[in-house]
Amino acid sequence: MELSGATKTYPGGVQALRGVDLRVDSGELVAIVGPSGSGKSTMLHLIGTLDRPSSGTVRIAGYDVAELSDRELSALRSRHIGFVFQSFHLADGFPALDNVADGLLYSGVPRRERRERAAEALKRVGLGHRLDHRPAQLSGGERQRVAVARAVVGEPSLLLADEPTGNLDSASGADVLDILRELHAAGTTVAIITHDNDVAAAAPRRIRLRDGQIVEAVGAHG
Ligand code: ADP
Ligand code: MG
Repeated sequence: MELSGATKTYPGGVQALRGVDLRVDSGELVAIVGPSGSGKSTMLHLIGTLDRPSSGTVRIAGYDVAELSDRELSALRSRHIGFVFQSFHLADGFPALDNVADGLLYSGVPRRERRERAAEALKRVGLGHRLDHRPAQLSGGERQRVAVARAVVGEPSLLLADEPTGNLDSASGADVLDILRELHAAGTTVAIITHDNDVAAAAPRRIRLRDGQIVEAVGAHG
């Protein structure tokens, strides 16, 4: 994954990113820190191809995102990238199993196999006993583990997490972080936005944003 001179100006004129260069190699674990409003989520959205830069380039798995159609982009995203958000983003009316199986909707995997793989992913995050529970019947930590299961059920090479522990108590947050570390240990590239100094300090690589620019880079490629 590589950003080169990436800028993002939102309608209305906010310059959320002002020329960011960042390369993340396969298998890395990168923590992204910085004050609120510094552009962290915007940068993660560009990395995750949820949004396109105003200028500069974004390359994912060798592809220049600007050269792909929306359809090619969503195919690339569904094949390579998983997301976890602070606010879980689960479908409220549906059981955990369906929420996770939906992570494979655009993968061409038949429904039955989607559900089997979803059950396995939920077991991996310690929720094998909660397959039929709807989000409202789960704790915050359990909801976030469902969200992690959904993000990784398609075995993405890149997992992006935007303050995944921001809405959790410290014990549940630690559980979620342990799962992310396990995924990294198993070979997944992980980028995680965090306000937790301990998490950032423990990451092999740390990027600090301020006012839309990288102001500090510690660790590999630093
Ligand atoms: P962070 O995640 O570090 O808190 P963001 O990337 O969310 O920062 O936001 C960076 C800046 O861009 C902020 O000033 C924010 O208000 C602005 N911004 C974010 N999203 C939008 C949007 N969709 N439209 C307009 N401005 C936005
Ligand atoms: Mg943010």
